[in-house]
Amino acid sequence: MLDKTKFYIDGQWVAPIDGTDFPVINPATEETYATISLGGKKDAEAAIAAAKAAFPAWSVTTVEIRIQYLEKLLAVYEDRMQDMAQAISYEMGAPIDMSLSDQAGSGRGHLKAFIRALGSIEFQRPLRPGVEGQDIAFEAAGVAALITPWNWPMNQVVLKVGAALAAGCTMVLKPSEIAPMSSILFAECIDAAGFPAGVFNMVNGDGAGVGSLLSAHPDIDVVSFTGSTRAGVLISKAAADTVKTVSLELGGKSPNLVFDDCDVTAAVARGAAFCFNNTGQSCNAASRMLVERSAYELAIEAAAATAAATTVDLPSKPGNHIGPLVSEAQFNKVQGLIQSGIDEGARLVAGGVGRPEGLNRGWFVKPTVFADTTQDMTIIREEIFGPVLAIMPFDTEEEAIALANDTPYGLAAYIQTGDMDRARRVAAQLRAGMIQVNGASRISGSPFGGYKQSGVGREGGMWGIEEFLEIKTISGIV
Ligand code: NAD
Repeated sequence: MLDKTKFYIDGQWVAPIDGTDFPVINPATEETYATISLGGKKDAEAAIAAAKAAFPAWSVTTVEIRIQYLEKLLAVYEDRMQDMAQAISYEMGAPIDMSLSDQAGSGRGHLKAFIRALGSIEFQRPLRPGVEGQDIAFEAAGVAALITPWNWPMNQVVLKVGAALAAGCTMVLKPSEIAPMSSILFAECIDAAGFPAGVFNMVNGDGAGVGSLLSAHPDIDVVSFTGSTRAGVLISKAAADTVKTVSLELGGKSPNLVFDDCDVTAAVARGAAFCFNNTGQSCNAASRMLVERSAYELAIEAAAATAAATTVDLPSKPGNHIGPLVSEAQFNKVQGLIQSGIDEGARLVAGGVGRPEGLNRGWFVKPTVFADTTQDMTIIREEIFGPVLAIMPFDTEEEAIALANDTPYGLAAYIQTGDMDRARRVAAQLRAGMIQVNGASRISGSPFGGYKQSGVGREGGMWGIEEFLEIKTISGIV
């Protein structure tokens, strides 16, 4: 059993002051393989105090110095990519090849994008060209609390830590207690990169403990959170009393609009595979497929064939299969939602409840496809966070847009069409933060985030750094 109970505070690995032991479970075997500590009030306060003390010096470092530190961090991170892929695969079940290329790889991509963006931000500039004595300065916003989930651990940690470091903020990271091992390794990378003590601190803990202490603490200026809308609302309320800046990256129920003027079979296969990727545990999963009626039966066939061809297997095996869900709680939630689809009258065309054949241990689920879904069904309204695709037909472009927008979420939307005029017209009317046409994915450095209850603010590149900056107007210096 690995003992990983220490926290990284003020440049040191320290034993918890008032922590409680907590097991880290491998979702593929259901076995506990490490112990962490859930920090208490004193642990959170020690980390906040270290970050506060480090702020005055770190916040005034030059951009060149911060770029040098980030480049060192990138080099250390790249050296440890294999270890990182293993850590992520063990803690949350991502198959090892995908864990290296996509999960650990996303951290590398974001660091590179922050380094590029940092070099292009003008931290002090005149209000307008030709106007004298009216300066605008962009400054580090203060001490940041960074609270992250388990589904894309390094993607989310690096999106926050990289941006906060680039902006000149100091910080306390509280990673997911379900998937803390990658963040412990990331703290080792920070240590090896030689950041000044107190700039980055990491305390493990749960939401009710360290999470809510950080969200309410008067010495925290900025809270950046990724996770459920439920927790995002609680964090916003806790942060309101001390008027913190809060950015939220929350859930989604993203539509994929398939028009019959494209290669429907290929588009549906790609869309279904994207929905099943990471075992459906992505906030931007294309989980609702809206198909033009003339192509509806063809799309159902293609989606069912993709589900049947998607293998589910152990994360330790090489290959492009999908792994288990992260935990027993998620397994039970997803099983319940699949059953609700059946009970509420959707047509099950692939998968269903229960584990896939041959996998009797671990939180494995069947890639599942429902057709004939309607707007009132639970599987259409709720974020499932499992490999479950729900398909429904539409008759007109207007109806497709109305169905796509009929959700409290607005994170991403996907369009499949051979007509670029239609793609432009539809993209302009979809109430979502990210639109992908015909499978073209965003590159690192693009803003990531959503409309409506999918969140507040954007992460990645220049936009991500801006979330950690305050704006200061200085008039009269000529
Ligand atoms: P969660 O939102 O409860 O947890 C995410 C992080 O927030 C963890 O670090 C957790 O400790 C912390 N947290 C929880 N409650 C908190 C609080 N009151 N104050 C401060 N921090 C708090 O997510 P979960 O329970 O792990 O997953 C539940 C559901 O959330 C999933 O089924 C999924 O629908 C959704 N989810 C969405 C994303 C996303 O990327 N949008 C990520 C993870 C989970």
